[in-house]
Amino acid sequence: MEHKNIKIEKELLISLYWGNNYSSRNIGKLFGCYHTTILHYMDRYNIPRRFRHSQKHSEETKKRIGDVQRGKPKPPLQGRTIPDKTKKKMSEAHKGEKNYNFNNWSSREPYGKEWSHELRKQIRITDNYTCQECEMTEEELGYRLSVHHIDFDKQNNDLENLICLCKSCHTKTNFNRENWIEYYRLRRFGVE
Ligand SMILES: [Zn+2]
Repeated sequence: MEHKNIKIEKELLISLYWGNNYSSRNIGKLFGCYHTTILHYMDRYNIPRRFRHSQKHSEETKKRIGDVQRGKPKPPLQGRTIPDKTKKKMSEAHKGEKNYNFNNWSSREPYGKEWSHELRKQIRITDNYTCQECEMTEEELGYRLSVHHIDFDKQNNDLENLICLCKSCHTKTNFNRENWIEYYRLRRFGVE
């Protein structure tokens, strides 16, 4: 699947890698390609990479450094499957959601609204223009799908926090919010 049919905007790539601190591997997962494809794009766009010495740190240390740099705690991107134990931890970690500090977000994000627009577009592409709950497509519905913030925090534009929903399914999320948070988090990670 190398370089095949995939087009990644420079601005989006910079935002994900530098603004959102994603690894090339995790960006690759989002686009359904290898991290080497992502690195290829970064080279092509002359996007600098993070220092390699950070790889000497243990996973735990790296996570802590990342948290400090971002100014917020954030669960690691787990890929397609999450062990039950981790899911439980994630759910517990997110109980104190409102206490998260997102203040650094806007100052770290050089592309502001433009990126936001690009990001929404990318989420709709990733979700194949299909409501992730009822599976109706934009074509069938006749309108553009909403991009839902899974944790209801509109400042949290992390890709794993965003999912496409039709108007009807989106409206449902206004009731029993807590349940929907957990529900769509599992959906987003592809776990039933
Ligand atoms: Zn729907």
